[in-house]
Amino acid sequence: MVSVITDAAAIATNLAHVKQRIKASCLKAGRAENEVRLLLATKTVPAEKIKEAIQAGGTLIGENKVQELKSKYPLLKDLNYEKHFIGHLQTNKIKDVLSYVSCIESVDQLGLAENLDRRLQSEGKKIDIFVQVNTSFEGSKFGAHPNDVDSLLKQIRRLNTLNIKGLMTIGLFDTDPERVRPSFFLLRQVRDRAIENGLLSSAAKELSMGMSGDLETAIEEGATIVRVGAAIFGQRPYPDSYYWNENKEG
Ligand SMILES: *Cc1c(COP(=O)(O)O)cnc(C)c1O
Repeated sequence: MVSVITDAAAIATNLAHVKQRIKASCLKAGRAENEVRLLLATKTVPAEKIKEAIQAGGTLIGENKVQELKSKYPLLKDLNYEKHFIGHLQTNKIKDVLSYVSCIESVDQLGLAENLDRRLQSEGKKIDIFVQVNTSFEGSKFGAHPNDVDSLLKQIRRLNTLNIKGLMTIGLFDTDPERVRPSFFLLRQVRDRAIENGLLSSAAKELSMGMSGDLETAIEEGATIVRVGAAIFGQRPYPDSYYWNENKEG
């Protein structure tokens, strides 16, 4: 296993390389470079490494676990960047997560949306959300079934504190981007159908999809946010199933 990169210069170099990949993919896909934002997926990455990435030009960070938000963000509070939550969110962690992030990309159930809404109402706040869709049909991943997205959107739209920005997916877990492509294509189809059906406004077109190994494919299929971890920070010590399977810790 490759060890976690510890060197600031390496993080800056990796970040520049990923930005170059995004630029090249946009060019190839005939898209403007500023249509795609890079989110740094920072699970397991210590605060000082995240700081290096922000200082090297990272502007958007995503965490999967409330525990990690709590332990790291106080150390990063003087830096200017945007925070999203991209992990499975449990109801009992809602209060905590809302104090740290401006967007939750992983809303996949009405119950969670309603609980968020209740809490936000009591705080007099609003938040941006993405609806997470399971495009790989692997039981181990969270996300609404593509067929259920329209009805979920219809119900979430009634909750005034939640500003729906678009859809998010993890996609098939496979090292061959061509095998992941159908997941990305499906997310775009689900979005386009929801827009046609009047369930997503034309301002809610975001597609958060694509990671270290397949961001090019995701951009070709319309990604507006790619979420990249390993290509910038090095391989993680735990397999991703640790983050995507768990339902106890959050
Ligand atoms: C870890 C993670 C990523 C980034 O994956 P890499 O392979 O490290 O680029 C993206 N999205 C989610 C939800 C993640 O948990």
